[in-house]
Amino acid sequence: MKKSFEDIEDKYIKERLIDIKQMIISLLELLRSRKKLDIFSNNTIENKIIITDEITPKDIIDIHHSKGLGVITSHGSRSSHSAILSKSLALPMLVKVESSINIIKDGDKLIMDPENQIIIINPDEIELKYFKKIQSENNSLIKSFRKTTNKKAITKDRIKVDVMCNLELSEEVKLLNDSSDGVGLFRTEYLYMNRNDLPTEQEQYQAYSKVFKKVNNKPVTLRTLDIGSDKEVSENMKVGQVAKNPALGLRGIRYSLYEKNLFKVQIKAMLRAAKKGKLRILIPMITTLDEIKKAKELIDEAKAELIKEKKSFSHKYEVGIMIEVPASAIQSNVLCKHVDFMSIGTNDLVQYILAIDRIDDEVASLYDPTNPAVLQLVKQVIQTCNKSKIDITVCGEMAGEKIYTKLLLGLGLTSFSMHPQAIPEIKNLIMQTDTKALKSKINAILKCNDYEEITVD
Ligand code: PEP
Ligand code: MG
Repeated sequence: MKKSFEDIEDKYIKERLIDIKQMIISLLELLRSRKKLDIFSNNTIENKIIITDEITPKDIIDIHHSKGLGVITSHGSRSSHSAILSKSLALPMLVKVESSINIIKDGDKLIMDPENQIIIINPDEIELKYFKKIQSENNSLIKSFRKTTNKKAITKDRIKVDVMCNLELSEEVKLLNDSSDGVGLFRTEYLYMNRNDLPTEQEQYQAYSKVFKKVNNKPVTLRTLDIGSDKEVSENMKVGQVAKNPALGLRGIRYSLYEKNLFKVQIKAMLRAAKKGKLRILIPMITTLDEIKKAKELIDEAKAELIKEKKSFSHKYEVGIMIEVPASAIQSNVLCKHVDFMSIGTNDLVQYILAIDRIDDEVASLYDPTNPAVLQLVKQVIQTCNKSKIDITVCGEMAGEKIYTKLLLGLGLTSFSMHPQAIPEIKNLIMQTDTKALKSKINAILKCNDYEEITVD
């Protein structure tokens, strides 16, 4: 019979197994740092476009810090965390350009147009002139959008819409300005990545404090750790065997309820940082009511510890949940009685409703946020929250893509959160929309049961 680690009684053997495990961890870290050294340090990548097979969120951060100009991958999908992070950091990225790695050679000059999925290798004078003109036209369009950026987003039929921003790295705080109505999602997991130790309470306190300071009195939604799946962690944070199906494994709140101390340290840092701000604690990957209750118990324990340690903190905060698992969307009418707000994570919700791995390029063409099943569930959650008068936001990528803005407004959404670069254009679109005029189109779309292109224009 196969014995598990816990079954091993012999103390000597158990200790040796721990040594071996530690050695494996060190070896893996060494190999990883070698790989990184090869890719990023041997050739300087400043002002260069990186062509690679695949890329992790960690690599995107390294490229951003090394001032790389862009990334082209032969595999990967647009809904992966690497792609989301690159958008947020304004690092142009094209995924699933299968032949790129063979065709593009070191030193080639490239034109990269991610919006239209175009790459031109060694462009001639006419192509260069044409794309420079497009670039300057785009810049003027962005400038014209910016003029309305600081105005409130109110639709033509006078509905006030909140437009908040998603943050990934604490250094992005400098991108925060008056154009957003607060932070709708701070993906705190990046504080835990690209390092071998855990961020301390003090370190997290400082990172979160910076955000509160910058947004003045607007809401700041700090999401508790959502590590796992394609958001890789260092070896010292891994638990158990390598998950066979990471997206269905120990992710989000499941990990936090397993590593309770880690969760409490994070909550303590959040509560301390929020002393003068409007804190909204957002819990990822909630599937059951029991998880909400357990998370709240841990928040209470964290508060008790702060009192004991005589540290001052905010007693006023809201607790909300991500709706990104179909079970919580279906049960939203029950769960909403136990939380202050909800936020729909369409990136994961689409993946789990349709059983399409969001990072698997082989099925990327089937990843469809307008699938009738997705729209029905999104509508159900929005209506439930609107009826119960609790805040509902969409913070998945759908919120920041202009092709979905009117669709979401038509479904009754009045709060969007997106990467900061998307705010000017989406705000403009909201201000040009009359949601009443959308009603009949939306009803027709919701009745649409076949796979066809759904647009609201
Ligand atoms: C989502 O799932 O839509 C979401 C916002 O969370 P993440 O992309 O970090 O998984
Ligand atoms: Mg998610």
